[in-house]
Amino acid sequence: MKRLVGLTVLLGAFGFCMGCHSFFQASETHWTMINVTPAEAQADCHLIEFPDGSKALIDIANAADARGTALTFLQRHKIEHIDLVVISHVHWDHYGCLVDMIKSGITVGRVAINIPASREIADVERPWGCEWEDVQATLQFLRDRHIPYFTPKAGERLMDMSVGGVRVHLDVVCLYDGINTPIGKTDINETSIIVRLSHGATRALFTGDLGNRLGTYLAANNFDVAADLLKAPHHGTEGTAPNEFFARVNPKAIFVPSPKKLWFSLRSKRTRDFFAEHHIPAYVTGIHGHVMVVLTAEDSRFSPSIRVHCSYDLPIQCNLRDKLELRLESDWEALATKAAAPSFSRFPGCRLPPDRCPKISGPRCPI
Ligand SMILES: [Zn+2]
Repeated sequence: MKRLVGLTVLLGAFGFCMGCHSFFQASETHWTMINVTPAEAQADCHLIEFPDGSKALIDIANAADARGTALTFLQRHKIEHIDLVVISHVHWDHYGCLVDMIKSGITVGRVAINIPASREIADVERPWGCEWEDVQATLQFLRDRHIPYFTPKAGERLMDMSVGGVRVHLDVVCLYDGINTPIGKTDINETSIIVRLSHGATRALFTGDLGNRLGTYLAANNFDVAADLLKAPHHGTEGTAPNEFFARVNPKAIFVPSPKKLWFSLRSKRTRDFFAEHHIPAYVTGIHGHVMVVLTAEDSRFSPSIRVHCSYDLPIQCNLRDKLELRLESDWEALATKAAAPSFSRFPGCRLPPDRCPKISGPRCPI
């Protein structure tokens, strides 16, 4: 255990009790950044356990090389019902496990999802995991199961409760549909629903894959993005929101759903350097495993109102790095414009058409 800017960080054997409400006081809210990036591909999944026992997921991911990690975590921690799922945007690494989760028997109250205004902006991103037909099939699946889905409005309060005199709520900061935006036509990442979790005076901001253009706009136009905790937009990579946005949020810690290799790559250098220079601790799934943040309302100061626990309880034990030559995202983009090498095979479990799946070589990992 070590002290780090007011955070209590426990490393190691904590995974067995994550998700056990009896372990904590009822006045706490738990945010678990689930490690869905144990290999080399990026993805996003956050479980919010509210003090009244209700639960929300912000994104429910399948990384291309770690299918099922989110579902394994939820099952291992005996999560049976999710009151609200927020799909920040329709990239597969943010919604890809939704159908599998529901098919597994985990029930869902409702789904907040932002569908782009135009199929056109979705289709150009097929190589990046935006499959319009798959999104439509997912919506049809929800209709078939009578699970309501909706597009929230900016300012909408998605969850709201008062427990032990503490007000806890989840609010939509903003969302745009990719066409009707203050910055013109955007990509899919900029359609991310941005939400803010408040537990008393403590705030956490979830930014989906917010990019540079919209991040610049939000920073310059007085959006209320200030937060104690920041879920790094777009896995902390270069295309994410600018440093001006980070400065406006002014977080005391940043949480990055990113594989270790990506976090230490050039693509994440700007974000990495910004937080290092400002002495703001960064928690990264690829380094710290599952990261649980416990929000309490002891007071409005950062310490001791937040505790952070890390766990290496990885649901997938297979070491892909040792067994496979896995191509990184930048290589997938190149593959999308070239014929795949014949020695490469379709990634196991990929739901996209074969020519759009990540490619692997070498023996298959048993996932
Ligand atoms: Zn995205």
